[in-house]
Amino acid sequence: MIDACSLESRPLMSINDALDRIEAAIHPVSGAEKLALKNALGRVLAEPVYSPVNIPHDRNAAMDGYAFASRDVVEGQAFTLNLAGTSWAGRPFQGRMQPGQCVRIFTGAVVPEQDDSVVMQEHVQVRDQAIHFPADTRALQNIRKVGEDVKQGDVLCVHPKKLTAVDLGLLASAGIDEVAVKRRLKIAYFSTGDELSSVGKPLESGKIYDSNRMLLGGLLEDPCYSVADLGVVPDNRQLLEDRFIEASKNYDVIITTGGASVGEADYVKEILQRCGEVNFWKIAIKPGKPLAFGKIGSCHFFGLPGNPVAVVVTCQQIVVPALRRLSGAPSFKALRFSATCTTALRKSAGRREYQRGILSQDENGEFWVASAGRQGSNILSSMSQSNCYIILPEACNDVQAGDKVTVEPFSLLI
Ligand code: AMP
Ligand code: MG
Repeated sequence: MIDACSLESRPLMSINDALDRIEAAIHPVSGAEKLALKNALGRVLAEPVYSPVNIPHDRNAAMDGYAFASRDVVEGQAFTLNLAGTSWAGRPFQGRMQPGQCVRIFTGAVVPEQDDSVVMQEHVQVRDQAIHFPADTRALQNIRKVGEDVKQGDVLCVHPKKLTAVDLGLLASAGIDEVAVKRRLKIAYFSTGDELSSVGKPLESGKIYDSNRMLLGGLLEDPCYSVADLGVVPDNRQLLEDRFIEASKNYDVIITTGGASVGEADYVKEILQRCGEVNFWKIAIKPGKPLAFGKIGSCHFFGLPGNPVAVVVTCQQIVVPALRRLSGAPSFKALRFSATCTTALRKSAGRREYQRGILSQDENGEFWVASAGRQGSNILSSMSQSNCYIILPEACNDVQAGDKVTVEPFSLLI
C-alpha cells in the first residue's frame, strides 16, 4: 500500500507481512536447562511433564462431616451410627471400622477404606458417641476419588508452555521439584545518536537524555531473557559496525534504536546490509515505519526507530512476538476488542496506526475510548497517561466521535 503521508515512492510492507517474514526467519532456540521448580516461573518448558502420581493420592473428604458405609443404611430412612474415631487431614483414622459405625472426618482427610459416603456436619445431630442422620441423608457423596484431578501418567503440562503460577502449583501438587526449560535468550540493546546523554549527568546544550534504553530495559523484562544494556553508540559508521559485529558474536538478538531512517546520520540499515543481511526495512505502521529486520551471522537484528513512542510500539507489536517465538513459547494474540471512540481522531489512509488512548468500561459493561492527547512519535507523556492502543487499519481515514474502533489494552487492569 502507498503511504499517503510520506510520499513514499514504493509501497510499504504491511505489518502482517512483516510478522510473517519474521516468523519464517526465526526458529525456537534448542538449548535447555534443568531448573528448580521455584525458579521456573515464566520460563518455557522444554518437554512435556507427566504426573508420577495420582492426584488426589488418596480418597479424601470434600467437606467436614461424618463418613459411613452406605451398606449400613437404608435409603430414605433416618439412622444412627456410633462414632468410631476421627480422620484428620494429614492424620488418617487408624482403626478398623465395624458395621454400624461412622467416623468424624475433616476436609482433605483420608476416607476409611470401608466407607463410601461423607455427610456434612450441619446435616447430623450429635449425642455423645451417637450420630443421628436424617431420612434425607444421601449416600455416596462428598468423596474425592483417587486421580480425579490428574491420573498417574497423565500429561500435567504440555510443551511448549510458558509456566504460570498455576502451572507451578499443579506441578508441585504432583511432587515435581525440577523441570527442563528452554535456555534464556541473550539479548543486547543499545541506543545510537550523537545527541544522547545518559541520565545522571547534567544535560549539555543540544543534547537529549536517552529514554530508549530505559524503555527497552522495562519492555524486555522477562524470565526468558538475559538482557544486556550496551550503552550509547555515536553516529559513526566504523564504531557502529564494530559494535554490531562484536555483539553478534555474543548474543542471540541485537536491538538498536535510532539511525534507522533516511537522515544523513542514519547508518543502521546500511551497516546491517554490509556486515549481515537486511530481511526488510520500513513497514506500513505509524509510529514505527523505519524498522530494519535482519541478521548478522546467527544473531537476529532489530533496528528500531529513534523516537521513543515508536520504540514502544515496534517493541511490543513486532520485537516481543519475535522474541517469544525464539524463546520457544507458544504464540499469542493480544486481546483486542471494539470500543466507542468519544473523541475525533486524525488519520490518513496508508499505514496502520497505533494511537494511544484511554479506555474505560461503564456500569453496563460498555467500552469507551478517548484519545490520550498529542500523538507525535516523540510524545511519551501522552503515552504514559494512556492505557491502550487504538488500532486504526491501513485504509481508515479520520475517525468521528461516536465511531467504533478497535482497542488493545496494555494490561488487563484498566
Ligand atoms: P533518528 O531515527 O536517529 O533520527 O531519531 C529520531 C528521533 O528520535 C530524534 O529526534 C532523536 O533525537 C530521537 N531519539 C533517538 N534516540 C533516542 C533515545 N535513545 N532517546 C530519546 N530520543 C531518541
Ligand atoms: Mg539519530
